[in-house]
Amino acid sequence: MSAVWPGRRLTPLPMTTLVTTDLIGVTRGRSLPSDELDGYRLAGCGWVPANSALTPQDVIAASNLWGAHGDLRLIPDMASRVTLGNGPDAHAPVLDFIHGDLCETDGREWSTCPRTLLRHELQRYREELGVQVLAAFEHEFNLTDTRGAEAPAFSLQAQRQGAEFGGWLLSALRAGGVEPEMFLPEYGKQQYEITCRPALGVAAADRAVNVREISREIARQLGLGLSFSPKTSEQATCNGVHLHISLQDLEGQPLLYDDHRPDGLSTLGQHWAAGILHCLPALCAITAPTPVSYQRLRPHHWSASHACLGLRNREAALRICPTVTLAGKPLASQFNLEFRAMDATSSPHLAMAVLLIAGRLGIQQELALSTTAEAPSAPLNGEPLQAQEIEALPASLAEALDCLRRCELLVQALPAPLLNTYFALKTEELALTQALSTAELFEHYARLY
Ligand code: GLU
Ligand code: MG
Repeated sequence: MSAVWPGRRLTPLPMTTLVTTDLIGVTRGRSLPSDELDGYRLAGCGWVPANSALTPQDVIAASNLWGAHGDLRLIPDMASRVTLGNGPDAHAPVLDFIHGDLCETDGREWSTCPRTLLRHELQRYREELGVQVLAAFEHEFNLTDTRGAEAPAFSLQAQRQGAEFGGWLLSALRAGGVEPEMFLPEYGKQQYEITCRPALGVAAADRAVNVREISREIARQLGLGLSFSPKTSEQATCNGVHLHISLQDLEGQPLLYDDHRPDGLSTLGQHWAAGILHCLPALCAITAPTPVSYQRLRPHHWSASHACLGLRNREAALRICPTVTLAGKPLASQFNLEFRAMDATSSPHLAMAVLLIAGRLGIQQELALSTTAEAPSAPLNGEPLQAQEIEALPASLAEALDCLRRCELLVQALPAPLLNTYFALKTEELALTQALSTAELFEHYARLY
């Protein structure tokens, strides 16, 4: 006779995960029973400093600052919690996570936490400039559905192929407080884009993480392959991340627009853009931070290939976006600048922080836009922008890292431990990938991101 276990029937405990998104844009964390969350509000959970030196290849950079030493705390920012009750797979556990900041065990801030860096920079905007930042990240990605045939670019057929995923994604993003706008088929085969409404401050970068993680969750539940990598194969159209930014005063009034200027860009906006352009090659080391990123930042990829400000020109790294006069929409509140030399192998918090640093330095030093920066408008298949003497972006990660090393403005503005860790892990990543052919590189990063 078999023994009968007298205990209660078990059901899986709902878990809440405290997460940090690190220097390479990977979201990591530790999970606890959701009904014990209250006990973790103030002191968070433990974390290991050397984790910050992880490469995308899951190798900790040998030359990191901590080795086996040290302990940190990951403190949840309760307002950033994302809880999704159900998705397409009714048996999948609830997705419940909270973004957090890393600090020392006595509560002192930790210099290598990207979210803390962004919070500090936003505080400087408020205190030194009287400015708040409204931002939105657009994401493109490849969705691999082996059931479907390929459909024409931007087509209703392509939309229908992605419609089950898209519908669940919009629903989950809305439930997660991400305020999705549109789900659209893109130019490439099985390539889609998701856009969301802008958010103020750190919430904008949290939202970018939420888009990536919720998209991955829905794809996993539907059994689909998904990659945000900037280029997944030789034939693939590139996946960009475009960061739209507007600056406002502390009452929410827009500051980038001036209707007396033909391009609409206010004096403050010009200085801000000039700061970004000044640091642009160096910024790429952080906004386009993997070897495969440089297969995207090339002319005629619709992505961003030149270090200039473009008026509605999609090949410019920084673009003045169009405004719409239909339906009586006010121009100033629509007006924004779009940074396009970015992809999803970057950390949203770190990338947004460095862009803001460069822009703030432009404002504080009253940097001026150069004439070539003001009006590039080469047709996509016409005269290359080089012919107009506009600088090209770095051609490789190694080149971009050299630009960052030489960019005094950024080197002085970034915390030294963060920067050193970044150089250590990126150097390791270059070594780990140097033997890969271009085809292998596409495949490798398509799996990692
Ligand atoms: N796929 C392009 C990129 O890599 C962007 C195309 C668009 O403007 O939507 O950035
Ligand atoms: Mg697009």
